[in-house]
Amino acid sequence: MIPVAKKTECVKVAVRCRPMSSDEIRDARQCIVTVDSNRGEMTIRNPKADASEPIKVFTYDCTYGSDSAQEQVYLDTGYPIVENVIEGYNGTIFAYGQTGTGKTFTMEGKDEPSELRGIIPRSFDQIFYTVGQNPSNEFLIRASFLEIYNEEIHDLLSKDYNAKLDVKENPDTGFYVKDLNLFAVKSVDEIKEVMNAGRLNRHTGQTAMNKDSSRSHSIFSVVVERSETGKDGVTHYRVGKLNLVDLAGSERQSKTQSSGERLKEATNINKSLLTLGNVISSLVDGASSHIPYRDSKLTKLLQDSLGGNTKTLMIANIGPADWNYDETISTLRYANRAK
Ligand code: ADP
Ligand code: MG
Repeated sequence: MIPVAKKTECVKVAVRCRPMSSDEIRDARQCIVTVDSNRGEMTIRNPKADASEPIKVFTYDCTYGSDSAQEQVYLDTGYPIVENVIEGYNGTIFAYGQTGTGKTFTMEGKDEPSELRGIIPRSFDQIFYTVGQNPSNEFLIRASFLEIYNEEIHDLLSKDYNAKLDVKENPDTGFYVKDLNLFAVKSVDEIKEVMNAGRLNRHTGQTAMNKDSSRSHSIFSVVVERSETGKDGVTHYRVGKLNLVDLAGSERQSKTQSSGERLKEATNINKSLLTLGNVISSLVDGASSHIPYRDSKLTKLLQDSLGGNTKTLMIANIGPADWNYDETISTLRYANRAK
């Protein structure tokens, strides 16, 4: 079913600025970003001395500075979406931004110390905690993990990383990936194992094929099916899907350095990020009845989880240093269009 376009409050945009890196500190780079989390503001200063508009202020649903805690980011962003998924609605969390700004840190984080764990492992904890709190419900939890590289889909949970999977369309349920593995998991440990197997497969597959991970999108999906039998003997079913998306780097590819396959890849990355921006902004302003889901594989696959009754969160990641000014402004503008 195609979700109907309507003005939606269900798209939220957060922007997170990472700390200065050790290289940036060593090179005495200037910090050009200031964050006011209470007001949801990001202020950026143009490092060029003769800039006509030296200071720009952007406002979002949430903003996070360099000292932001993973737990706080999760409570504001992931928690309400996961809560909704467990109730039977779909939800999607995207990490957007230039390579090196913290997309993977935000989504996956670090295993040690445990405070540094990101949105994905925290969502596993929340899902299985809820399962434990509801012994009268039956749960079936399944996970899939895929990568979109150069508009080709690879199943990260398959033995054969190289196989290219097809997107098919079912007239009732919409787009799906034919032959994608979906594994049933019974505990946090099991779902982590699935995720780690996929990460390893991604890494070895890309290395073998001389691919660059910053040029691919990954989608980890968790399907939560829940059933409950009432006193009247009637069983109620609910199904929700959570998509956790680590997008390809948003940096502009330099035309002079890219040619052949690399240029084709760059064009495909730009196309899917542009389509994603168009889909989200048409959902947000609700003016258009045509949502361009069909224009990229990424948006086709997420069609059932963007718009309608679903919740969507975009976390745009930026760096604080002057040398990134152009990319940072471009990310702040992209995120601004989505809200
Ligand atoms: P991306 O996935 O966008 O390419 P990464 O998540 O790999 O970027 O982050 C690049 C580097 O910056 C990593 O070493 C990461 O640990 C660090 N980093 C990113 N965001 C933060 C943050 N908020 N706090 C501390 N370190 C961060
Ligand atoms: Mg990354």
